[in-house]
Amino acid sequence: MPELPEMETYKKLLTRFITSSPITKIEINREKSVNVPPTQFQQIVLGNSVTSIERRAKYLLFHLQSGHVMLLHLMLGGWMFVSQNGESPNRTKQIILTFENSTSLYFIGLRLGYLHLITIRECEEIISKLGPEPLHPAFTQADFESQLEKKRSIAKTLLVNQQFLSGIGNFYSDEILFDAKLLPSRTVNTLTKSEKLTLFQSIKTVLQKAVQSGGYMDHPLYENDTLTGSFVKQATVYDREGEPCRRCSIPIVRTELSSKKCFYCPTCQK
Ligand SMILES: [Zn+2]
Repeated sequence: MPELPEMETYKKLLTRFITSSPITKIEINREKSVNVPPTQFQQIVLGNSVTSIERRAKYLLFHLQSGHVMLLHLMLGGWMFVSQNGESPNRTKQIILTFENSTSLYFIGLRLGYLHLITIRECEEIISKLGPEPLHPAFTQADFESQLEKKRSIAKTLLVNQQFLSGIGNFYSDEILFDAKLLPSRTVNTLTKSEKLTLFQSIKTVLQKAVQSGGYMDHPLYENDTLTGSFVKQATVYDREGEPCRRCSIPIVRTELSSKKCFYCPTCQK
């Protein structure tokens, strides 16, 4: 599932392609992917422009000139493709938005994912339930440590909890814990002061590095896109079961914790 760095990459790249150009055509091929009848969706969105794209947690918020928001969550398996010269991946597209500047935006693999048309107030209500943004300067070490003290859960479960922190899922929780040399099964109230500090720093550095490297998405956003997905080459543990640890060469282990798959090094994570 795309997490903070993947959605941040989409935001950065999509802003160049689609903002400020009116939407001239909307195709909704899967009604379940939207929250209102397709004709109503079209009535409100056609002729509107995306004024800005914002990311919160794993959501993208397409702000429309009319004050509405198209709220995107790609969930598991969802991705996007931008077409400028008619190129089109050979996949079923659940939604296609076409813009006056001849760009089309394809939404693909939306099985659980969705594009909901909501008001700014409805959007704020959804967003207000989310935990802090880990890369925002307002997310400080002091806050993090005091939040940790109230928690009794294991590190893996806590990192993917969207009420605790926004935007981290299975992939980055494993990468962060490897970077912090902490076992995913560690109960967070057993962390020492220095382990807490390391964990805080790993959250920031791993996510920052991933944002700079375009995250781990499998599919490019547009033809000749060299940024999207580049971080996958830097993955240290995720999907590397049996491969040598990049620090100590011991094979990486895969396990399941609270029904989430989880990869770690059994020797250099404590
Ligand atoms: Zn190791």
